[in-house]
Amino acid sequence: MIDNSARSEGEVIIESRNAVKHFVIKTGLMNSRTAGVVRAVDDISFTIHEGETFALVGESGCGKSTMANLILKVLDPTSGEVLYRGASLADMSAQDTRNYRRNVQAVLQDPYGALNPRMRVGHIIGEPLEVHGVGRDDREERVTAALQSVGLPPWVQSQFPHEFSGGQRQRIGVARALTLNPDLIVLDEPVSSLDVSIRSQVLNLLKDIQDERGISYILISHDLASVEHMSHTIAVMYLGKLVELGDAELTCSQPQHPYTASLVAAATPPGTTPNWPIPIVGEVPSALETPSGCSFHPRCPYAMPVCSQETPELAPTEDGRMVACHLYPDEIKHIDKQAPVAVA
Ligand code: SF4
Repeated sequence: MIDNSARSEGEVIIESRNAVKHFVIKTGLMNSRTAGVVRAVDDISFTIHEGETFALVGESGCGKSTMANLILKVLDPTSGEVLYRGASLADMSAQDTRNYRRNVQAVLQDPYGALNPRMRVGHIIGEPLEVHGVGRDDREERVTAALQSVGLPPWVQSQFPHEFSGGQRQRIGVARALTLNPDLIVLDEPVSSLDVSIRSQVLNLLKDIQDERGISYILISHDLASVEHMSHTIAVMYLGKLVELGDAELTCSQPQHPYTASLVAAATPPGTTPNWPIPIVGEVPSALETPSGCSFHPRCPYAMPVCSQETPELAPTEDGRMVACHLYPDEIKHIDKQAPVAVA
């Protein structure tokens, strides 16, 4: 096992070992022709420890949600494997899978679409307990406790979702995920659809719950600014590959990969200058036509001839982080980060 997490405390709870997920795209009459293959997740390895928040960051289409679905066992990998506490998800029996689904929960991005509008809040939160055979009395107690953990009073159980604001609905979604006492929650863009004023409230709530219960989080986001303050480790994905992985604070203050630097620059508040001010240039290329070599090379101001020919490996750097870029370890010393070369 390669333990590349920034956090070494606690047992390894999730390990992705060379996970690959490809989708064959069909076209034509009766889907008779193959249009190409999307490499949504391409040889990804990482570990997540107990009590760790592991952020998966990147633009839309980079593969972060597909990676989350492999961890949630919604999708099976094309090759490679995902392990939970050392056991491969692919080898789990029906009973093991049931236990796994108790222990690993998800909070979805859209607090409006994620809750059934016809069900009362108490039923929504208690439903996972019912599915897993928890008796009525115990259920009521646990629903009230879950509501209390997210700062909502017991009487909201009799209300319907439309009676709440976006932030309150996201709290209800978190309460539903907590009822089964999971040890990992996948948070898929948990605050992106909320007002800016509510975002920090929900993130602080999640952090408090983690401190209290020692839960691990996988935090999926396109926005580095919203994950920085609550993550221990940040993994940056681009077109299905990990391009940088390491300590969250270091990654945000001193990004190593030019793509990470461009995400940091995009998340820097107006009026402040990022350490490495790279504007994001152009669009993410089609996943069906991934550029050769480093797939970021058509957008990278520092691209060299080797970049379009050879795919850089994810390799350790001096401060213990990992980066996949031909600038390391030698070229980076000669780069003037304040003056990126314009892309032709
Ligand atoms: Fe840019 Fe080359 Fe590094 Fe890719 S490998 S990020 S193109 S310098």
